Amino acid sequence: MHMIYPPRCLNCGEMVESDFGLCGPCWRDTPFIGGVVCDLCGTPLPGGEIGEIAHCDDCLAIARPWTRGRAALVYDGTGRRLVLALKHDDRHEIVQPAARWMVQAARPILDPDSVIAPVPLHWTRLLQRRFNQSALLARAISRETGLPHCPDLLRRMKRTEVLDGKGRDQRFAALSATIKVPWTRAELIRNRAVLLVDDVMTSGATLAACADACLAAGATQVCVIVMARVAKRP
Ligand SMILES: [Zn+2]
Ligand SMILES: [Zn+2]
Repeated sequence: MHMIYPPRCLNCGEMVESDFGLCGPCWRDTPFIGGVVCDLCGTPLPGGEIGEIAHCDDCLAIARPWTRGRAALVYDGTGRRLVLALKHDDRHEIVQPAARWMVQAARPILDPDSVIAPVPLHWTRLLQRRFNQSALLARAISRETGLPHCPDLLRRMKRTEVLDGKGRDQRFAALSATIKVPWTRAELIRNRAVLLVDDVMTSGATLAACADACLAAGATQVCVIVMARVAKRP
């Protein structure tokens, strides 16, 4: 595939040969997730055997309305830096390689009958930020996998307050019932699987609200894929 971004390392700006986005040293420094992971959120798990279905403490404690999930990176170090650069610095050249990393992480859970949809931003926030980074990732993942993509499957009905620093219960309460599948879109996912795309998973509250909305609209199941998972330090 032809590269649409200049062949420079996304992290340090060095020239790179590969189209995978990072130079050798930055690649080794980036916390890509591999090995045994939580089957619901993709967080890396110590021990266990590859192929065995395991869940992290968070996903055992909180009921997840989605079926399976994966993350490409741990939200730390270079992983965190790349997410923030995409979100706040308009570094759109990160989208394509990040989508490729996400598809690779999601391989074991990809359902060929899914519709891909991004977690929505409220339009007032969309105006401030000018783009929805999750929508850019979702579109690139659709291209990468050939799966259909519905950029406006989900809608935020009212603006949610900034959630940073809130407790888990407050975050879940603030989001419940604020995200809906408009009736004009419900037909697209009735009796089909949905693959939700977001840049970061912290508590999982936003993804849970989106998954609930998809299931309420008739989706058979929902899987989630994020660029980075906020993981507890071991
Ligand atoms: Zn580099
Ligand atoms: Zn988990």
